[in-house]
Amino acid sequence: MAEETIFSKIINREIPADIVYEDDIALAFKDINPQAPVHLLIIPKKPIATINDIEEEDADIVGHLYIVAAKLAVQHGFAKDGYRCVMNCNEHGGQTVYHIHLHLLAGKPMGWPPY
Ligand code: IMP
Repeated sequence: MAEETIFSKIINREIPADIVYEDDIALAFKDINPQAPVHLLIIPKKPIATINDIEEEDADIVGHLYIVAAKLAVQHGFAKDGYRCVMNCNEHGGQTVYHIHLHLLAGKPMGWPPY
């Protein structure tokens, strides 16, 4: 299990967040420092530190994050235009919070490569 992070505190309602979706497995909320017109973070309630720490038994949880992303894209009206889902891993990946999270970015055309 991962160390407790700020995201565990958001799950436990110990600190506020602009929550847009919740179910038994996942929570989604607005990123505090948005990098696109829409920038949501979709996190598992299970605290997994990095992509490297995902176990076989977590496959359904991780897959569920993408199901939630697609649902949010429909609900928020950007499914057809498109969007980007990104999960950063460790220092070179740009990870700063060690509780895995899917960034859902939308509302403008995204550039590539991402640097
Ligand atoms: P990472 O750099 O891929 O780990 O992404 C962490 C993200 O969490 C960044 O985009 C931050 O802006 C975001 N973030 C950090 N603290 C908070 C918070 O308290 N609420 C919402 N987003 C946060």
